[in-house]
Amino acid sequence: MQSPATLRPASCFCIHGHFYQPPRADPFTGEVPEEPDAAPYANWNERITAECYAPLAEVGLFGGISFNLGGTLARWLDENAHGTYERIVAAERTYYQEHGVGNGLAQPVHHTILPLARRRDKICQVRWGIASFVHRFGHRPLGMWLPEMAVDYETLEVLAAEGVRFTVLSEEQVQDDLKDGAGPYRVRLPGGGEIGVFVRDRGLSDALSFGMPAPDRVDEWLREQVEPRARRGGLLLIATDGETFGHHHRQGVEVLERILAGGEAHGYEVTTLSLYFQRHPPKAEVEVVENTAWSCSHGLARWVVGCDCTPGDSRWKGALRRALDNLACDIDDVYVREVRRFGVEPWTLRDAYIAVVLGQVDGPAFLVEQGLGHLRAEEGSRLLRLLQAQFHRQRMYVSCTFFFEDLDRHEPRYAIANAARALDLIRQATEEDLSRRFRRDLGVAVSPRTGRTGAMIFDEIVPT
Ligand SMILES: [Zn+2]
Repeated sequence: MQSPATLRPASCFCIHGHFYQPPRADPFTGEVPEEPDAAPYANWNERITAECYAPLAEVGLFGGISFNLGGTLARWLDENAHGTYERIVAAERTYYQEHGVGNGLAQPVHHTILPLARRRDKICQVRWGIASFVHRFGHRPLGMWLPEMAVDYETLEVLAAEGVRFTVLSEEQVQDDLKDGAGPYRVRLPGGGEIGVFVRDRGLSDALSFGMPAPDRVDEWLREQVEPRARRGGLLLIATDGETFGHHHRQGVEVLERILAGGEAHGYEVTTLSLYFQRHPPKAEVEVVENTAWSCSHGLARWVVGCDCTPGDSRWKGALRRALDNLACDIDDVYVREVRRFGVEPWTLRDAYIAVVLGQVDGPAFLVEQGLGHLRAEEGSRLLRLLQAQFHRQRMYVSCTFFFEDLDRHEPRYAIANAARALDLIRQATEEDLSRRFRRDLGVAVSPRTGRTGAMIFDEIVPT
């Protein structure tokens, strides 16, 4: 007679880590400023590397989980913690060689809330994200992580059109009965076509992220939290910030190690999203609840007008977004006018420009590749400056800008600094000064805490 354990339906368990840090480097110098609150480390990137990325990489955990690595963080690790970066990349590449699919997911490169972006900017962020992934890991990604899991159908259409096969959402972001556990489910797209969606177990993800057990209590935790769910069969999915392991919770690295090793005793087999997707293509369908995210229950209000997720007066969010949107329009007008003179499609050119950002090709060689080798030197350098301005104009929209409660803090300042850098590059390229209108719009955004306006912050970054 078989023991009860072997009668259990086979259940798979995946932990996905979203590894990401708000970008910090000064857009004028490329340097990460000293951050005294990260002591004894020089800045938060160094501190979180020591607590989380390095130990996870050293014990080989990047080969056991599913993960995505933010673009700016990947670049920082490559330049400042190269051993850790190499281990992460090698783990993913090895997984790919062994399984024919990697365990990494791509990510839109600037962590933009995609449903709030216009279509051509969605396409740019997704193409840049895929190109960055291929650059680092040497193969195409099967899946893409959406910043803050923010979703609408247009975003999913763009993903599918770029060859992305699946993404990850949270339970509250989909309709219909989740009879297949974490899925993957098929989502039919309005313009035809489809995409796969994994649905994370929100309760279980929160149980680990906010109630992480001590290492010697992991068995008990698995018995209580995981075993009852694993008995249902199918896939069980935890998706959480990667920094949960070691940074938010000191014991996280050891806990993760024990969870990944505990499958036999607790009735699950550890897998990753891409591998599971390949073996179990979607059968059931779900519909997506548009304009939702995993980190705000008020639609996308947190990144547009403010909501109860943050305390105090958040009217600065709408004012800052309006300022950035107006500036983005102005920058795009100049860019399109200049690029069209050379008979080139402006947005395709911008999408391709990521090759320069990644250092795959230098500026002049890029222009040759794009059929612009005939430009005079001064025309070429003007065009490259305008493309660089587009890069910083994209970066203004990093989601962290709007995540917290106040305007007068590092993250909104970072967005304004990137705007200032884009304005500087436009001025160098065309001698046009777009900053007056931007400064006027920034005057409407007021910090509820210090009373300072966006214009005052701008003036600090760009002394007149
Ligand atoms: Zn909210």
